Amino acid sequence: MSQKLETKAIRTQMERSKFLEHSTPLYLTSSFIFEDAEDMRASFSEEKERNIYSRFTNPNTSEFVQKVADMEGAEDGVSFATGMGAIYGTFAALLNSGDHIVSARSIFGSTHTLFTKYFPKWNIETSYFKVEEPETIASLIKPNTKILYAETPTNPGVDILDLEYLGKIAKKHNLILIIDNCFATPYLQQPVQYGADLVIHSATKLIDGQGRVLGGVTVGNADLIREIYLFARNTGSALSPFNAWILSKSMETLPVRVDRHCESALKIATLLEKHPKINWVKYPFLKSHPQYELAKKQMSQGGNIIAFEIKGGIEAGRSFLNSIKMLSLSSNLGDSRSIVTHPASTTHSKLSEPDRLEVGITDGMIRLSVGLEHFEDINDDLNQALDTL
Ligand SMILES: *Cc1c(COP(=O)(O)O)cnc(C)c1O
Repeated sequence: MSQKLETKAIRTQMERSKFLEHSTPLYLTSSFIFEDAEDMRASFSEEKERNIYSRFTNPNTSEFVQKVADMEGAEDGVSFATGMGAIYGTFAALLNSGDHIVSARSIFGSTHTLFTKYFPKWNIETSYFKVEEPETIASLIKPNTKILYAETPTNPGVDILDLEYLGKIAKKHNLILIIDNCFATPYLQQPVQYGADLVIHSATKLIDGQGRVLGGVTVGNADLIREIYLFARNTGSALSPFNAWILSKSMETLPVRVDRHCESALKIATLLEKHPKINWVKYPFLKSHPQYELAKKQMSQGGNIIAFEIKGGIEAGRSFLNSIKMLSLSSNLGDSRSIVTHPASTTHSKLSEPDRLEVGITDGMIRLSVGLEHFEDINDDLNQALDTL
């Protein structure tokens, strides 16, 4: 009998120690010992699956990975020290010099830097498609294209990409489809269902959900994961057992936390839409979102990120942030504490205005990460700041 997501987030097959502890203990150990010479030989020859050294595997990282893989419906997974560690490790393990990537243009900033600044050093080029024009993907595919890459919902514009469409194109052209599922979490959307070969998460965001630790994980096809695992174990971006233990515990409350995040976000988005000082509000589960139907099809709820544009451009954006009293000004997201950012004057300030507009960032745009405070308190703070404009 297949278990529901809430159960998969909690019940994994962890072995217990002789103390029969109920909650998984923290295995804070760098290495593991062998029974005898034969045990050591068999372990190193990989005849036996067992923990050897925590750069390779550790019971805490294995438990965390198992939970994410189970929720995503994936065969296997590998954990990393950060989300970027997972993204870099995944691409570096699979690509060779001369390979080509087709990627959505709206992707996380450091991923973009990886594609534009570092991969070209190894003769790996990337072509980009606009998220509103996925029909152009086929025209970007070349004989050496190996990976199709996207995030949905996107950051910070919360655009939605059609996972079923991406899955079909990847299959037709024999590409590895990789989805950064960070904004949706394994609870709201499972890209493997639509043909994604690999799914990546920055566990730093909603998976931890309380702004404490960094972590990353890649799950998916077992053969690809094996390649990525071997790369990871030899290159050293291992998730620490302590962080894995925190993240595995966090997974147990992910569904209830994300339910509340989404419920509050929808209420706040609906209220913001009526505010006279706001031009537009974008939230996947608002009927006004251009891809509302698609969001409903592939996500069970709308997530916790809202984008909205206040009237008055860059100056109004900055002045809005200065008037915020309770919400945090931080570049992070997916925390129990609500966070507001003004991408045009901060994270995306280095882009020219046309480049910013191309990824959907207008001068007055605010990104709100709805936290777990009472939605009325979040809304009150936003409103008092809007009233000052
Ligand atoms: C934060 C983030 C990352 C990078 O994760 P880190 O844990 O900060 O390295 C990657 N993708 C998305 C969509 C993110 O929001």
